[in-house]
Amino acid sequence: MTHLPPPTQLIDRYGRLVDYLRISITDRCDFRCLYCMAEDMTFLPRAQILTLEEILTLAQAFAELGVKKIRITGGEPLVRKGVLGLLQAIGRIESLTELVITTNGSQLETMAEALKAAGVKRLNISLDTLDDDKFKAITRTGDLQQVLKGIQAAKAAGFERIKINAVILKDRNHLEVCDLVQFAVDNSLDISFIEEMPLGIVSQHDRSDAYYSSALIKTDLAPKFALVASPEKTGGPSNYFKVTGTQTRVGFISPHSENFCSSCNRVRLTVEGRLLLCLGNEHSVDLKQIIRANPGNNDVLKQAIVDAMLIKPEKHDFNIHEQPVILRYMSMTGG
Ligand code: SAM
Ligand code: SF4
Repeated sequence: MTHLPPPTQLIDRYGRLVDYLRISITDRCDFRCLYCMAEDMTFLPRAQILTLEEILTLAQAFAELGVKKIRITGGEPLVRKGVLGLLQAIGRIESLTELVITTNGSQLETMAEALKAAGVKRLNISLDTLDDDKFKAITRTGDLQQVLKGIQAAKAAGFERIKINAVILKDRNHLEVCDLVQFAVDNSLDISFIEEMPLGIVSQHDRSDAYYSSALIKTDLAPKFALVASPEKTGGPSNYFKVTGTQTRVGFISPHSENFCSSCNRVRLTVEGRLLLCLGNEHSVDLKQIIRANPGNNDVLKQAIVDAMLIKPEKHDFNIHEQPVILRYMSMTGG
């Protein structure tokens, strides 16, 4: 009998190469953004979430299977104890070309330099508004000035690239899209606008009424900024435009208006160790159970990851006009 060599790449049924993993390292957060969490969230008990060692084992296994880029997210990743040690350890995995973080920015004032030293190359920082009161209304518990200080600290630490992520909701912050781009231009940052996705049940707005499309944002930006389509991709779902005469790129993540599933190269590891094959579907494999049942046996783990590619769905099927069928919140999944 001939044995096939173990796979070194992850390829799904539709021929898509999966080389990007997003890991949610905590479901906890110091903010309660109204599109992301309920006000009175119940967080998971510690035994139910992956330990830092398990996260590292998983990152290593994915890297051995050809994953080149890892994004650490949450919840708010920077509130998890031990995050810097974890980043240092993941940063030492040689075959990875990119280690990046998505953060709400609240801890950056004190942590930016340490993150840079730990090997993080790029940061995505969420910022939906430049107005203190609106910031408080959207995040419920956040402080805009703290985040702005965090952004300055990140700039000073010298990351290769810092990108602002802004979820735009009609009548909450849609009038601010030009100000947000101007903020990005003034600070030599990139910015991506995100259409809200129907994940988890939210109480404070109707997602269908709050929908504000990427096309509308482009129309709003047109009188003030000349946007030129850029062929550049960063391994994520954004379509980029260069703001003429500046360093800034503006991206649009449009799960509703421009389906990006055909080029999907990513999978997500939830805080509970479930490998989620698509943000908009429930297809998943419980890798925590596999790791805990087979301690130290990387072959079993890697085979489970390879096999999981067979159930990666062709596309998501979000419908903001209906109650969500996806009951998990973005904070558990890892945005
Ligand atoms: N706490 C970090 C932060 O806010 O950047 C990382 C986790 S957060 C879940 C990651 C990204 O998901 C943020 O940019 C956030 O705005 C976005 N997000 C959360 N809920 C969303 C939703 N329902 N639709 C679209 N984007 C969402
Ligand atoms: Fe926290 Fe980020 Fe969700 Fe806001 S979007 S509640 S900052 S995890």
